[in-house]
Order: sequence, then C-alpha cells, then structure tokens
Amino acid sequence: MIQLRPYQCAGIASIREAFGPLHKRAPLYVLPTGAGKSLTFSFIAHGAADKGNRVYILSHRQELIDQISGALDLTGTPHGFIAAGYPTLDAHVQIASVQTLVRRLDRTPQPDLIVIDEAHHARAQTFERIIREWPRAKLLGVTATPIRLSGEGLGTIFDHLITGPSMRELIEGGYLAPYRLFSPPTVDASGLHKRGGEFVTAEAEALLDRPAITGSALEHYRQHADGLPALVFCVSIQHAKSVADQFREAGYAAFSIDGTMERTVRRGVVEDFRAGRIKVVTSVALLEEGFDMPGAHVGIFLRPTQSLGLYLQQIGRILRPCEGKTHALLLDHVGNCYRHGLPDELRQWALAADDGEARRKPGASVRICASCFCALPSQAKACSECGYEFPPKPREIEQRDGELAEVTPEMLAAQAARRAERREQGRAQSLEALREIERRKGFRRGWAEHVYHGRLAKRARA
Ligand SMILES: [Zn+2]
Repeated sequence: MIQLRPYQCAGIASIREAFGPLHKRAPLYVLPTGAGKSLTFSFIAHGAADKGNRVYILSHRQELIDQISGALDLTGTPHGFIAAGYPTLDAHVQIASVQTLVRRLDRTPQPDLIVIDEAHHARAQTFERIIREWPRAKLLGVTATPIRLSGEGLGTIFDHLITGPSMRELIEGGYLAPYRLFSPPTVDASGLHKRGGEFVTAEAEALLDRPAITGSALEHYRQHADGLPALVFCVSIQHAKSVADQFREAGYAAFSIDGTMERTVRRGVVEDFRAGRIKVVTSVALLEEGFDMPGAHVGIFLRPTQSLGLYLQQIGRILRPCEGKTHALLLDHVGNCYRHGLPDELRQWALAADDGEARRKPGASVRICASCFCALPSQAKACSECGYEFPPKPREIEQRDGELAEVTPEMLAAQAARRAERREQGRAQSLEALREIERRKGFRRGWAEHVYHGRLAKRARA
C-alpha cells in the first residue's frame, strides 16, 4: 500500500471527523493543485466502500477520470465507471462522468457518499441536478480554489470547510518546487471586455495571437529557460497552433494539443514530452485541470484570465517537483500575477464568498521589477533577482487600489492643486479666515462652521 504524506493523513482525519463526531453532511476539502487530492479522497472512498457503502466520484473530464482511476488503483480500491464507452462493473466505488450520470439517474442506485472532484464547478446545473436527486447521500467536495468564477462561494452546497496546507507550506516542505516569476509588459489586457466573469475569448485571441507577442514570449523563453521543457497556456486552439508554429520556426520542438485530437495522439505527445523529444507544448484548456504533463520546468502564460482558480491550476502544473528542477520558471506575459497576486501568497478561504478571497483587491500584493520584470511581494524594497532598488513611490499615486494608471500632467496638476488647498485650509486658523475661503471658492454655506467645529471637537478629545 502506498505511503501517504503527513498532510494527507491529517486531511483524511479531518474529513472523517467532519462526517463522524461533527455530524456534517457536506464538508469541502481544500488542497492546492499538485498536492495529491485524488489520492486523499481515494482513501476516503476506500474506507467507505470497506464498510459496505456505495461511493460515486463525480468528475467532468475524461483526463480526470483516468487520473482518479489511477489513484484508486494505488490505494487498492476496486472500482467501476459510469461513463460512455465503459462497461458497467458492480463495484462499490464508481467514477462517474457528470454528463453520463445525469442521463442515467433513473437507473442508477442511490449512493451513500458522493465525492465531487474540482468542486468549484459544483454549482453547475448538472452537478446540482445530481446532488438534488439523492438528498440523503453525504457529500465530499475537493478543490484547490473554493470559489466560483463569479466570485460566489460554495456555502449553499457545502456546510464545513477543511483547509489543507497552503502552496507556500507545500513549497517549504519540498512537496512543490519553488518558483521564479517574471511578468514582462508584453501586452496590456486591461481593455478586454468580460462576459460571464471571464475575458471575451475572441477579443483576447485578437490581442494575443500576433507574431510580435509570440516573438516576445520566445525571446524571454530563450533568455531565461533556453531549451527547458515548457508548457504554453493559450487563449484558443488557433492561438495554440500559431504559437507552436512560431516556436518550431525558431528551432524548438514544439507541439500544440487540443480536445479534438485522438486520445492516442495526445498520449503520444505526453510521452514525447516526458522523454525530451518535444520541448514545448502549447494548449488552451487541456493543460489546466488534471492533464498531467510531468517534467515541465517552465510555464509561459499567454492567456489573460479573471479566474483565480485557473491561474493557480495552471501554475500548479509547473510546480510539480521532478528530477533536475531546482525551481519552476513562470513567464507571465498577460499580467495574471498582477490580477491575482503571487501564486503562494496566503489566501483566506471561506464558504460564503463575502468572508473570503473573492473580496480581495487585485494587484495589491505584487510589484514588478522595472529592470528584469521579476514579480515580487509589494513590500519588497529591492529585486531579489537583479538587485534593482525600487524608488520610493509618491503616495497619491500608490493609493489608486493597485490599478495601473497612466500618470498624466493633468493628474499631477490636480494633485498639486488639492495639496495647495489643504495647506491653505490648514493655515486658516480663525472662523473668519475659513469663511473667506468658503466665499472665494464657492463652497456650500456652512462649510466654514463645519470645519471649525470639527477642529474644536478634535482638540476637546485630545
Ligand atoms: Zn529585477
């Protein structure tokens, strides 16, 4: 039997405690990408099946079904599949494709436990339909990012949050590789429109799928990671193909993969990548959830996203430790780190969106080195890569909620005028002097009294 890591054991104990002494019906277990979620819930499924319970593990993608099946094999758990093209096996544990299960609800027996992998999708209609069908079944949700793209929480489905180790703890423990993150100002995605909480694909494609942009990505790859195995995250299938073409023309063995390809062809690409025959794999969606590309040292990010979940999942792909990887290299050309913060910054999760991560201000935690484009914590005074020292920032510009604003002469003039006004007001000590300002500036009547009494009250308190 496979050896579990200490944090996986702790996770299993917390889940059992939730279902047992705490009498919860639906705990949600949070663990960063790459930390071994499938293995953890496979143990839970194994234990439940041993006691005679029926367990369905829901998944929404073929690659994840394969991966879960592998984890169940590792834990020695016999299992069947509720999925198109698989024979029905009478095992206590079934891996169910959501799309297939929802069509077969009337002829599928009632489960005792439903495990929902990638549970941040759990409010999608098909998932909800399945959960409603069996209101007495216990639920276990598992995810790296317990929020929806819309920012909604998952508190309407789950009743108890279990938080595993953070990405930073996993890096410190040697379970994930440390990283270096660079964010060169290749493209400004801030003008893209959003639909359903995400950037409009057609607009993002028009912005990103250009030889000049790919050329810049190529140049940074050559500068930082020449020849190291890399995954490129793209906007569309067409974009992924153009990027692969341009990398090939530059002399790198590059290949794009997408969902329309035969599974055997895709498997072949994975094999060639693992063996080092392919150096660069580009894709739009396949590289994100579950699709394992072991051995990637470099992530090249050419898809701007509003989704913290997608951002962390993409990066999680690159942080898996492997032979010869002293650190992962992340090249973010679309400012995702500015939108979502450094990958391993500490995040506060909650079942109700209002209490947790969804409220966070974008860009608050990151500053980019002006010399080498390394992404650093916002408190950094100097760049850890190149030693560049940040100049002290003028306060009034810094206060703009971390949004990049172009500083114009008009803005600076307006700031100077506001400062002069405050100085003049400070010098006006008497009520008469304040009234004079009120008249001259055309302020509303009573302004001078308001300021004057405010000062008196402040002095009285002091
Ligand atoms: Zn630097």
